[in-house]
Amino acid sequence: MIGIREKIACTAASPPVVGRFAPSPTGALHFGSLVTAVGSYCLAKSAGGLWLVRMEDLDGPRVVAGAATAILSTLEALGLHWDGEVLYQSQRTANYEAALERLRQAGHVFPCACSRKEVLASAPHRGEEGPIYAGNCRNGLPPDREARAWRMRVPHQTVAFRDCLGGHHQQCLASEVGDFVLRRADGLFAYQLAVVVDDAECGVNQVVRGADLLSSTPRQIYLHHCLGYAVPCYAHLPLVMAANGEKVSKRHGTVALDGSNGGKLIWQALRFLGQMAPEALQTASAVEVLEWGVAHFDATQVPKDGAGCQGHVTSVE
Ligand SMILES: [Zn+2]
Repeated sequence: MIGIREKIACTAASPPVVGRFAPSPTGALHFGSLVTAVGSYCLAKSAGGLWLVRMEDLDGPRVVAGAATAILSTLEALGLHWDGEVLYQSQRTANYEAALERLRQAGHVFPCACSRKEVLASAPHRGEEGPIYAGNCRNGLPPDREARAWRMRVPHQTVAFRDCLGGHHQQCLASEVGDFVLRRADGLFAYQLAVVVDDAECGVNQVVRGADLLSSTPRQIYLHHCLGYAVPCYAHLPLVMAANGEKVSKRHGTVALDGSNGGKLIWQALRFLGQMAPEALQTASAVEVLEWGVAHFDATQVPKDGAGCQGHVTSVE
């Protein structure tokens, strides 16, 4: 069992807390991502820590021109000032390649020749995120076939962690996910690898994000483990759902910031996170509301059974 059971409260972490917010520049900020920004900011700052911003712009075709700049100016206008330089994943492929090479040398990855069709055809089971790779190339490429992708060799072992906001989670990577891709056939590095390398190299020790990423966490913990990195603590926030029951995304409207409603937006995000910001603060400035959030943020009040927490997670407590 690989786990981080000892980490119960983020604030108990030492060295100082380093949190982060990592939007994808595929559109302007929407209310769902604002909630994540406010939650991660307040948790890091209330512990006297740093709050970093990283643009997850690896998937070139999905990136929208100007979106990164728009997101950053919205954050600034809301008083969500980050520490240090903004990190752009698109500028860090050499770091991901180096990490992949280390995993290669340690025997944790293998080349895979399978096309998407072959993976589908040979997968007897479906996991949370698609077919579970049957291991066709696990023991070597078939004759006359070339590597298309690189996959992580996962063990029959349970990865367990305790979410900082409560809840024990565990997953057997082999039976629930399978050998997952680290470098895709199109040459792009997978999200899972990039996130782990970035968090580790930036000293991030507090990962606060939406519950839609809960099912990725065991894979990331396993990668941290195999790369010899310290595992951060994780806090998964409830997802903002649209009226039709879908997770709120850019399609459902972005944060309309007209210069005067910043305080109200931060207030709404805090209320969504269970923080009882006083009614009177609705008309205060964004900076004042954020200051209230940092001073009063109570992780025990964040809804745990919100619409979020997707996926199949076994609680054993
Ligand atoms: Zn294969």
